[in-house]
Amino acid sequence: MDHFLYRDGVLHAEDVPLPEIAETVGTPFYCYSTATLARHFRLFDEALDGVDHLVCYAVKAASNQAILKTLAGLGAGMDVVSGGEYARARAAGVPGERIVFSGVGKTRDEMRLALEGGVRQVNVESEPELHALSEVAAGLGLSVPIAVRVNPDVDARTHAKIATGKSENKFGIPIARAREVYAAAAALPGIEVVGIDVHIGSQLTALEPFRLAYRKVAELTGVLRADGHDIRRLDLGGGLGIPYTRSNEAPPLPVEYGAMIREELGHLGCEIEIEPGRLIVGNAGILVSRVIYLKSGEGRDFLILDAAMNDLIRPAMYDAHHDIVPVVEPTPGVGQAPYDVVGPVCESGDTFARGRMLPPLAEGDLVAFRSAGAYGAVMSSEYNTRPLVPEVLVNERDFAVIRARPTFDEMINRDTIPEWL
Ligand SMILES: *Cc1c(COP(=O)(O)O)cnc(C)c1O
Repeated sequence: MDHFLYRDGVLHAEDVPLPEIAETVGTPFYCYSTATLARHFRLFDEALDGVDHLVCYAVKAASNQAILKTLAGLGAGMDVVSGGEYARARAAGVPGERIVFSGVGKTRDEMRLALEGGVRQVNVESEPELHALSEVAAGLGLSVPIAVRVNPDVDARTHAKIATGKSENKFGIPIARAREVYAAAAALPGIEVVGIDVHIGSQLTALEPFRLAYRKVAELTGVLRADGHDIRRLDLGGGLGIPYTRSNEAPPLPVEYGAMIREELGHLGCEIEIEPGRLIVGNAGILVSRVIYLKSGEGRDFLILDAAMNDLIRPAMYDAHHDIVPVVEPTPGVGQAPYDVVGPVCESGDTFARGRMLPPLAEGDLVAFRSAGAYGAVMSSEYNTRPLVPEVLVNERDFAVIRARPTFDEMINRDTIPEWL
């Protein structure tokens, strides 16, 4: 459920009509709903009620300061995958002890930043990284709590570009080598082993792959404890999928996911961390765009929008589907026609949808891409020197620009000309 609904024939974000935002901000723009963000965070938090846990929002899904601050205010921790994301979380007021540092290739500089600023736990993904972290921590005279990310070799049954838990993926260490790596970790200065980490992919639409992975983690917990390691935390990653269309099968709900976690891991007495990104912010954000032209081609009609692949790359990169809806509610029973929905960028990949059935639309009409909150604005670029798409946050009847559209001068003046030119 989200808070983007038609009211009096016009699509609203909570209590704000979208044409009002378009008038003020211009198009295209991302628009997020505070109520939806809060609702989704609470679904996860409540799903683990009664279990010692921390929901660490995966910052990479949408990293605007206003979004981080909203979630931090509800009690969220953060999962970061770069020094930049760590700095963002801290700037949004998240204390170090609520920040988990994940990622496959942390540099020594990034490690130093997190260790000096405070960090709840670093998830280590390889032995070379473990040694580097030990050096950095010992050099600072600190001891850093770590979990080792294990690769459980399960098939997440999701898009190949976002599957991370098979042995051929670059993530984590093979679970079969875990004992060896934990033994090495325990012997290193500056390292305090506290847990096990696993994350098998994104946009998972079934519980079974999670269950298989968590079962392996439970077994490993027993083995490592018998080896003398004090395994007291399990970081279960993120990855729960969202419905991108209203018609397709609904992915499992957070409450079902929580129940499965209890079943598989509840007996271990560990603190549980989860790192959802997409499910918290995906359906809490839309991309609003305006129709520039309608163009008739050979047996095809093109709807040319002022949003493009640089603003929302998921269709080009992951073949992703986004529902596209007119901002003015179509009259019931009106006929639909197939459109190729495209942006103005000079690439054939700049196609949002082919043969999409839509009600009649005209130049100047507003449309909204639903479920665009996750991996939308964060992946946007200025390709074709199109200004970075702005972001807007709605809270009941209020809205605020939380990232402004740059002017042409601002974009151009980021370049510098060498003195010999
Ligand atoms: C991307 C990622 C997440 C979040 O995944 P979602 O599918 O957005 O929930 C969590 N943890 C790690 C380590 C990740 O890389």
